[in-house]
Amino acid sequence: MAPKEHLSSSDTVGLFEKYVVGNYRRYPINLVRGQDSFVWDSEGNRYLDFFPGWGCNLLGHCPEPVVKAVQQQLATLIHVPNTWHLEVQGQWAKMLSDRSFGGKAFFCNSGAEANEAAIKLARLHAPKDRYKIITFEGGFHGRTLGALTATAQPKYHEGLGPLVGGFVYAPWGDLEALAQLIDNETCAIMIEPVQGEGGVRIASREFLQGLRKLADEHGLLLMFDEVQTGCGRTGSWFAYQHFGVTPDVITLAKALCGGLAGGAMLTRPEIAPSLRPGMHASTFGGNPIAASAGIATIQMIEEQGLLERTRQLAERFQERLGRIQQQCELIREVRVLGVMIGIELAVDGSPVVQACLDRRLLINCTHGTVIRLLPAMTLTDEQVDEGCDILAAALQQATA
Ligand SMILES: *Cc1c(COP(=O)(O)O)cnc(C)c1O
Repeated sequence: MAPKEHLSSSDTVGLFEKYVVGNYRRYPINLVRGQDSFVWDSEGNRYLDFFPGWGCNLLGHCPEPVVKAVQQQLATLIHVPNTWHLEVQGQWAKMLSDRSFGGKAFFCNSGAEANEAAIKLARLHAPKDRYKIITFEGGFHGRTLGALTATAQPKYHEGLGPLVGGFVYAPWGDLEALAQLIDNETCAIMIEPVQGEGGVRIASREFLQGLRKLADEHGLLLMFDEVQTGCGRTGSWFAYQHFGVTPDVITLAKALCGGLAGGAMLTRPEIAPSLRPGMHASTFGGNPIAASAGIATIQMIEEQGLLERTRQLAERFQERLGRIQQQCELIREVRVLGVMIGIELAVDGSPVVQACLDRRLLINCTHGTVIRLLPAMTLTDEQVDEGCDILAAALQQATA
């Protein structure tokens, strides 16, 4: 293929200033190409990407099996509505079911949409007077109004009221406080087993098992938002599998389709009938392109042994970052589950992100002080080391 002519980064920024709503803080860099754990800008600079696609590109950029499956599907059938049966959607649902708790799938296009489906299911499934859903401080469930109200962080609610009624916020990790919040109008508990945006906070086994027990005692649905933790990110198919707890509902998106847009909600077969025909829908949900990408994603993870590889990568990161911590007083804690990594600092992390960018390593900072890495499960050992060396240098510079 002949190389494509690209706009310069500054010309691209100009287009955005004039024509694109400014609701994101963007780096003044025009990214034009990606392969595995690298991306290139229009000036030809190469970056090592430890945050590919904001957690969506768990297989790296342009994973070959996904690209091929999608190319073939594109030329065969792009879209049909959900008034028809579609073999790839059915096969995809079976693959997700077989790797989870035997659940049934509802397909949509994003994490927020998957959570909206879960919220509606919880209310529809509950007896008539029960509608309250308990969620957790520091959580993140998406930007549509229902998912946003479920997100117990005041900074995201500012100026948007009135929000959706019926959400109750519980402190993270406190079973007693949670038990106090359950009343005879409660229908569900919704939680991320590892808070992603909230700073890679990993729930304890006891806490999640305690939630299961309380949900059973009070007849509540236990719903895990696995939009960030699902699809192999933590070294098992779904994060709940680490904790000896089986939820009633999980929501998925981000890495579900190997970098393409796609979302899903899985629920136990006994609960699924509460979403009756006509009660919920998504025009593009489970479309042939997303389905073929989703299938290729699962196949690639299995054929290349990437769950096992993710667990090895976790050990390597743990070891490398542990050594950096010994030399850097500003690191309070390193939290690793699979390739979901949080480095909690005693100071603001944004100068570290900038210092990494200057050295052509892409990372993220969340909750002010937590450096978050969501690298691809296809990363090589050399790339782990290269990125950790850059991070160590950046930490040193930014905190000097
Ligand atoms: C990203 C994210 C969402 C929102 O997903 P969108 O696809 O942006 O709507 C919801 N929950 C969690 C845990 C997430 O990380």
